[in-house]
Amino acid sequence: MDCKTESQNEWKKTACILCSLNCGLEVKTGPVENREIIGVRGDKAHPISQGYYCEKAKRLSYYQSTADRLTSPMRRKPDGTYEPVDWDTAIREVTERFLAVKKKFGGESIFYYGGGGKVITLLALTRKVS
Ligand code: SF4
Repeated sequence: MDCKTESQNEWKKTACILCSLNCGLEVKTGPVENREIIGVRGDKAHPISQGYYCEKAKRLSYYQSTADRLTSPMRRKPDGTYEPVDWDTAIREVTERFLAVKKKFGGESIFYYGGGGKVITLLALTRKVS
């Protein structure tokens, strides 16, 4: 069995990032560069979700493949429209604004609540601001 065929037939363990619960999932991928999601099911071995997954996760393929999917951070321009920026620029600019709020009002004035994949970005920002 070649590598591509083998990976297409495997269910890979991961976690859903569509909300803060991060349910355990098993995902099968293929055939477009092995990135197309062709199957999603709950991971029964996950200690918290124990195989549960909701309707949103069942449509992961739609979220991954839709033409409207954002592929980079978007910065709002003065006229209200948006322009794509790279991640380094986005994190630097958001960090600068958080630091300005911290300087003016104190660190206790900043609160965030988030989950799923958003946590990684927020943690990166938190390290830069604190
Ligand atoms: S499967 Fe549903 S409940 Fe679980 S993390 Fe994803 S979106 Fe949230």
